[in-house]
Amino acid sequence: MKVLVPVKRVVDYNVKVRVKSDGTGVDIANVKMSMNPFDEIALEEATRLKEAGKVTEVVAISCGVDKCQETLRTGMAIGADRGILVQTDVELEPLAVAKLIKALADKEQPQLIILGKQAIDDDSNQTGQMLAALLGWPQATFASKVVLEDGKATVTREVDGGLETLALTLPAIITTDLRLNEPRYVTLPNIMKAKKKPLDVTTPADLGVDVTPRLKTLKVVEPAKRSAGIIVPDAATLVAKLRTEAKVI
Ligand code: AMP
Repeated sequence: MKVLVPVKRVVDYNVKVRVKSDGTGVDIANVKMSMNPFDEIALEEATRLKEAGKVTEVVAISCGVDKCQETLRTGMAIGADRGILVQTDVELEPLAVAKLIKALADKEQPQLIILGKQAIDDDSNQTGQMLAALLGWPQATFASKVVLEDGKATVTREVDGGLETLALTLPAIITTDLRLNEPRYVTLPNIMKAKKKPLDVTTPADLGVDVTPRLKTLKVVEPAKRSAGIIVPDAATLVAKLRTEAKVI
């Protein structure tokens, strides 16, 4: 069984991003970029399924600029057998990414696609759901446990009231939540091995997908600065301030 894992190159989660002075977006020049953390979890899961003999091939896919090749190499160091870059300088929206992955799924015929639940740069949380709709496949989002058996996937999801378990017929889409697994550290020997794994480059035009943006960003602004807090001497003062100043009780 083949599994596709889409991995996005995003600003590293440790970086404190700054809004560009002209308010058109976030400044990512000279900023550390990494694989989206939820996608590392997706690759880890696919790799564990392969190690358990449930999966025969894991293919990492990234859509974006040429530097996404680095993200794919990291993916291959975690455990992907090969990588596919859909190269474009266009800023991709979730619908465009979903269409590109659908085109690759039509070619590659995987039984499972595991995505992150969201990319930490734009927090869209849309691509997996859109992809399931475009392919007409069942989906289980926010997975915290995945079991593959007898041609179906049993997926546990964390929901407000507890845990929900879904049985999906394959092919299917799964998106990962934080507690699904803890990704392994990438070791130097595996980084070296990853350099020799196949990495194909294609383009949206090759796949017949129009990735022209459909959304227009009007303005990006920093969140309002929080004013400094104060220490009150006792509970009575706190209650008085909440009543008369904050007017919340
Ligand atoms: P989003 O809908 O943007 O929050 O992203 C959800 C998931 O879709 C990510 O965790 C990735 O698995 C996948 N994804 C989004 N954008 C890309 C991209 N440019 N290349 C590869 N995978 C992507």
